[in-house]
Amino acid sequence: MEMHQVSDHCFAVINEKNRVCDANSGLINCGGGVVIDTQSDLTHARQMIEMFGKVWPAMPQRVINTHEDADHVWGNQLFNGAEIIAHRSVPERMRQVAEPKESQKLLHGVGRFLTRLVLRNLHPGLAAAAQQLLEDYNFDGIELVLPTTLFDARYELNLEGKVVHLIYVGPCHQVGDTIVHLPEERVVFAGDVLFRQCTPMGWTGSYEKWFQCLDLLIELDPEVIVPGHGPLCGVEGAMEMKAYLQYVRDESRKCFDAGMASLEAAKKIDFGPYGEWRAPARLYMNVERAYREFRNELPDAPWDSAATFDAIFQVAKAKGIEAEF
Ligand SMILES: [Zn+2]
Repeated sequence: MEMHQVSDHCFAVINEKNRVCDANSGLINCGGGVVIDTQSDLTHARQMIEMFGKVWPAMPQRVINTHEDADHVWGNQLFNGAEIIAHRSVPERMRQVAEPKESQKLLHGVGRFLTRLVLRNLHPGLAAAAQQLLEDYNFDGIELVLPTTLFDARYELNLEGKVVHLIYVGPCHQVGDTIVHLPEERVVFAGDVLFRQCTPMGWTGSYEKWFQCLDLLIELDPEVIVPGHGPLCGVEGAMEMKAYLQYVRDESRKCFDAGMASLEAAKKIDFGPYGEWRAPARLYMNVERAYREFRNELPDAPWDSAATFDAIFQVAKAKGIEAEF
C-alpha cells in the first residue's frame, strides 16, 4: 500500500498487489477532508487512515462510497461521525452484497483443515479464492455502516470554493457506480468503472452503459484518473479498458453464434495482450455478461459466486496459468 499525491489537493492510496479485494482509496485534503472508499478490512482501512493522516491530520468529515462492494465500504465504521455519501441505491445493495457475516464464516472455514478439504472438492475455485484472501485479509470485526446522505443523478460538494462533482454512472460495474470529478484539479476518482492493468469484473449493468461511462471519463479530460483497482493513469486507462471490453464482447459473439457455452468460450478466447493484466481468467465473467445480453436476460440477474469463482478457476487451469482472483 502506498500513498501518491495526484494533484494539489488530491491523494490516492494504491494497493499494488491488485487482486480482487485490493481496492484503492482517495483523499481530498481541504474543506473538512473527504475520503473516497474505505478498503476491505479494518487493518487496511487503519493503514489508509494513517497514510492520509500525513497530509490531513484531522479525521475526515466526509466519506464517499463509489459503490456498494465490500472492498470499498468495509472500513466505513472507522469514520465515526462522518457524513457518508453514496448513490441512493447503495444502502439497500450493501445489505445484499456486502454483508460481512458470510465472508467471515468462509475465511474461518478455510482456515480449518477439514473444511478446506471439503470445500476444495465441492468448490475448488471458491476454496482457492478464499485461500488467496486469507493471505492478506481478515474480515473479523467488520460491521456494515451504511451511507447517510443519498443522491440520484448528481451531487455537488463545495470545499472552500473547490467544487467536487459526484456523477452517477451506474449500473455498469455495480448498481451504485459513481465517479468523483474535481474539474479544477483535473482528477477523477473512478471507483470500479475503471480497472487498470487488471481484468475488470462486472456484477451488473450492460456493456453499452460501461462504454458510455468510459467515454465520459475521456470527455472529462482529467490529467489523472484514480481507478478502483490498479495503478494511477490518464485517459489512456479508460481507452484501454474500452478496447478490452469491445474485444471480449466481439469474441464472445463469435462463440455464442457457434453454439458454445460461456465457460467453453472463456477457455477458448485468447487473452491477447490482456494476458499481462492481473487475473486474466476473470475473463469468464465478461464472457458470461456478454452471453446474458445476447440472450436478452436482465443485467441485474444475480451471480452464484461459488460457481463464478469455480468457472474462473477452470479457465485458469485450461490456460495453464495459476488461478488468481
Ligand atoms: Zn472493487
